[in-house]
Amino acid sequence: MTHLFVTPAGNKLVTVILGDGVGPEVIRSAQRIIAATGAPIEWEEREAGEKVFLDGIHSGVRADTIDSIRKTRVVLKGPLTTPVGYGDNSANVTLRKLFETFGNIRPVRELPGVLTPYSGRGIDLVVVRENVEDLYAGIEYMQTPGVAEALKLISRKGCEKIVRLAFEFARSEGRTTVHCATKANIMKFSEGMLKRAFEDIAPDYPEIKAQLIIVDNCCHQLVRRPEQFSVIVTTNMNGDIMSDLTSGLIGGLGFAPSANIGNEVAIFEAVHGSAPKYAGKDVINPTALIMSATMMLRHLGEFDAALDIEHAVLVTMEAGIRTRDVSGDEGAVGTTAFTDAVIGNLGKRSAKWQVRDYKPLTLYDFSPAPDFVHARERRYVGVDLFIESPLDAETLGRSLEDLSRDAPLRLKLISNRGTRVYTPTGALTDVVDHWRCRFMLTNDGGDMTDAQLIDLVQRVASRHSWMHIEKLPIFDGKPGYTLSQGED
Ligand code: NAP
Repeated sequence: MTHLFVTPAGNKLVTVILGDGVGPEVIRSAQRIIAATGAPIEWEEREAGEKVFLDGIHSGVRADTIDSIRKTRVVLKGPLTTPVGYGDNSANVTLRKLFETFGNIRPVRELPGVLTPYSGRGIDLVVVRENVEDLYAGIEYMQTPGVAEALKLISRKGCEKIVRLAFEFARSEGRTTVHCATKANIMKFSEGMLKRAFEDIAPDYPEIKAQLIIVDNCCHQLVRRPEQFSVIVTTNMNGDIMSDLTSGLIGGLGFAPSANIGNEVAIFEAVHGSAPKYAGKDVINPTALIMSATMMLRHLGEFDAALDIEHAVLVTMEAGIRTRDVSGDEGAVGTTAFTDAVIGNLGKRSAKWQVRDYKPLTLYDFSPAPDFVHARERRYVGVDLFIESPLDAETLGRSLEDLSRDAPLRLKLISNRGTRVYTPTGALTDVVDHWRCRFMLTNDGGDMTDAQLIDLVQRVASRHSWMHIEKLPIFDGKPGYTLSQGED
């Protein structure tokens, strides 16, 4: 467990961010319920989100909010509206990155009285999503006026962290299966990094069944037989999409809690956003935030209070007390009345609906050293030069062959939109003016020097416009680059 801040009165201090839109209503609901359990929690209220952006703070997070989180290391957070047309970033992303909350845990379970096509099948699963890397690092470029690039950067360290978290989380909840959902069949290096980390780490958890699954099949299986899943660990973008899907399986965003876990800081929040159209109307379902608060209480070691709240929510829902997202306007209660009902049911136990026997979550320590993976031997055997050109493949290919004729780096192929077009393969590629041109060292076993690379760039630049370079490495005898479609 992270080092908590205990106040002189003996309470555990938590930073609370009310958030935007419906945020204050759902946060106040959870705070009232926690107070009613008698759990020793004290709040330090701080701001982030819309108002902070409008005050001209581009990150959307005030300095005193950051100071508070550094001190308390635990946050209960309402949803924050993402700025459109003002501010630079999402305040959510700022918080996630600032505190390296690398794991996003999103549980969903069937709840009493929330009728869905899956009712009665006992859905009870958790998506464990990598939370900082992948395409969501937001590293994007326009390589030409008509071709965009987004870098999908995935590290071995990031993968080991999320895989360990998934297995440790499974252990803490007594779960016996973990699936790893990737697109490693297509993205062998990036998505494959998570798959390999999973295969390497799974033997450390012999009591847990470890299963690999391709992410698209996982989505298909989630819709057909969701009850077969317990924990699914996956990369950032996959997890974002899958966890919205899984919240839909159990009745929607009103029931989807989440925890953003890091080694130093943990941030608990509902999956849903600020739902501005419902702000201040006392109609929003606070269950997602209440369940996020129970995850927070367990993180703080307050297992009894968390158990009480979880049972009280189940008993309340069994009694048919529901917000309008479940029952429509007919017979629905408001946010305040639902909260009152949960408070009234504290101490009661649901006879039919079980609550898991939770244990503390163990967080694995990782070395802060940046060089997490070493290669004993490395060399560079060529380079991919990306060129913008209105020429056709044949003319460009002949020109590049001519330019590199007597050079140590020779043109091997050109691909366009991922498919080899020079020398032609007969593929009906609809080309654009963005060409990846692969040049390889002519001496096998050589190691490309910077001088050779610069010489090539100068030759090519004498006739063509280039915008991007990737060196082609061999790490410990294994190529660190993929072959393009049609390349041998
Ligand atoms: P949203 O706020 O999640 O709301 C979308 C819809 O989901 C609502 O209109 C409502 O559906 C339903 N819903 C959401 N929360 C609910 C709850 N507690 N109870 C019942 N129904 C609920 O998504 P959005 O409208 O796309 O986003 C609004 C703002 O929030 C955006 O600025 C977005 O960027 C931000 N956002 C923030 C976070 C975060 O802070 N973590 C997460 C997501 C989005 P019906 O209309 O069908 O009633």
